[in-house]
Amino acid sequence: MKEQILFLVELQNINFEIDERMLRNVDLPKEIARLDEESEAIEREMEESGQRLDKLKTDYKTKETALKNGVENLKKAKSRLLEVKTNKEYEATLKEIDTINEKNSGIEDEIIHMLEEVDKAGEDLKTKESETAGRRTKREDEMKKMKKEQESIGSTLENILKKRDSVRSGIKANLLKRFDVIKDRKNGRTVVSVWKEVCSGCYMNIPPQMYNELQRNERLMLCPHCGRIMYWEDRDDNV
Ligand SMILES: [Zn+2]
Repeated sequence: MKEQILFLVELQNINFEIDERMLRNVDLPKEIARLDEESEAIEREMEESGQRLDKLKTDYKTKETALKNGVENLKKAKSRLLEVKTNKEYEATLKEIDTINEKNSGIEDEIIHMLEEVDKAGEDLKTKESETAGRRTKREDEMKKMKKEQESIGSTLENILKKRDSVRSGIKANLLKRFDVIKDRKNGRTVVSVWKEVCSGCYMNIPPQMYNELQRNERLMLCPHCGRIMYWEDRDDNV
């Protein structure tokens, strides 16, 4: 009997493994898709940061040109001042110079502010790039591992199923039937160990007399509380 029970325990472990692989088979493509999405989002964000920096730089250059023109205008106005003939013209040109000066000083302020923005955006991008580089490598490694696992999951499952068949063939038909029935009913653990009169399936105590009998491994015994197949696990022996 003991050997048969051990086969059942093995079968149970194999069944758990199959369930786990099946779940993994469903989860893996989802995880791969999630990683893909994450990568795309990060690359997109990097691209947007780069574009933002480019735009700031272009705006900055436009302002610089505007200032250059402003300085040129100022120079022209100042030289015109030497050529004016009437007092009125003189006053008008002075006013024009004032206006140009005011405008140029405004542009200068803007340029200083924009330069700060360009610097800040450049720093941000650099920080982001170095952060992304590390994360990218990590993600790529993870992705490689998952794809490899995905490729081998079919053959792994096939091997486990073969192993299950061979273990099942070593178990007596009536015992196997009991096992399958209890398995369907209990939705999971079917064979449970008992140590010091406690069933590891429901954590209830079994009667001492039953425990004594269980230790003799003579017949198939079910837990009186949860109905699972019990076996005596000699934990002193395992240590
Ligand atoms: Zn029980």
